[in-house]
Amino acid sequence: MAVRAAVLPAVDAPLEITGIDLPGPGPGRVRIRLAAAGVCHSDLSLSNGTMRLPVPAVLGHEGAGTVVAVGEGVTHVAPGDGVVLNWAPSCGACPACARGEVWLCANALAGAAEVHARRTDDGTDLYPGLNVAAFAEETVVPASCVLPAPDGVPLTDAALLGCAVLTGYGAVHHAAKVRPGETVAVFGVGGVGLAALQSARIAGASTIVAVDVSPAKEGLARSAGATDYLVASDTTAREIRALTGKEGVDAAVECVGRATTIRTAWESTRRGGRTTVVGIGGKDQQVTFNALEIFHWGRTLSGCVYGNSDPARDLPVLADHIRAGRLDLGALVTERITLDGIPAAFDTMLAGKGGRALVVF
Ligand SMILES: [Zn+2]
Ligand SMILES: [Zn+2]
Repeated sequence: MAVRAAVLPAVDAPLEITGIDLPGPGPGRVRIRLAAAGVCHSDLSLSNGTMRLPVPAVLGHEGAGTVVAVGEGVTHVAPGDGVVLNWAPSCGACPACARGEVWLCANALAGAAEVHARRTDDGTDLYPGLNVAAFAEETVVPASCVLPAPDGVPLTDAALLGCAVLTGYGAVHHAAKVRPGETVAVFGVGGVGLAALQSARIAGASTIVAVDVSPAKEGLARSAGATDYLVASDTTAREIRALTGKEGVDAAVECVGRATTIRTAWESTRRGGRTTVVGIGGKDQQVTFNALEIFHWGRTLSGCVYGNSDPARDLPVLADHIRAGRLDLGALVTERITLDGIPAAFDTMLAGKGGRALVVF
């Protein structure tokens, strides 16, 4: 039976909303009916070639839904269960997994090279984008990409856990390791940035500065916990130092992935503080530092993949924050759309507008 999906026919080609035929589920696989899927910047990065993965592909990697059927050998979920998709499953066997750094698993995207489905109209083989192909009414994924959804969290909210929230929360808690009373700046108020702001509030940060190119996101940022809001400019780092007793913030979290923003985040960080880069930039984005400033400022600059998160460990923690009202997933969503609305949601994201657009099935 065909289901509707958002297909990227080739890099830089417009998305097509079309029918796809899904197999199985075969052994070790799970078929899921999606409840919702978030539109993430990484979908855009895949469609414009910043991230290189096999195409044509069904995009979408942040989703939740209900199990329809399980293949042989799948025991941790059953038909009818609510599940959250994990686009970066860990293999458990590579050196990173052996170190417990499952977010760096060498084989996390191995599944992206396996044929996922076929176009109903012409039979073309389709790949699963970032493993899980969540921009579809239904998907079939390896069991390792499926986590039981937390109790008491609607699946339409739980969809956001799989990427934006794990990434934003993890950036603040695991990578930047924000402690109570510290000062934080978050650059880029999209889905991940909003999750990072809420997470800084949960961590007990005192001053939380949100920075974005759009003046229109101030209300969104403040409701996520920002105590101050700056529209990005040449003087942003100076303004942040002024807000923090001329020191700079203890932790700067960059959720954009551009050289200029990374530089500003670095310059906004206090001596000895932490600059964490969450945004995925292109190879053309060169960031430069002089040798003296690296010595003088004594800062730590680190990258951060998927929030340095272990989804199996972290989802229950996030669920506790949600149920206690500390984490508000609904507040990340600025637009609820259908599959047909994804191309327009890409345009909105490119224009730097809005928080998360959520496809509701
Ligand atoms: Zn994502
Ligand atoms: Zn691994």
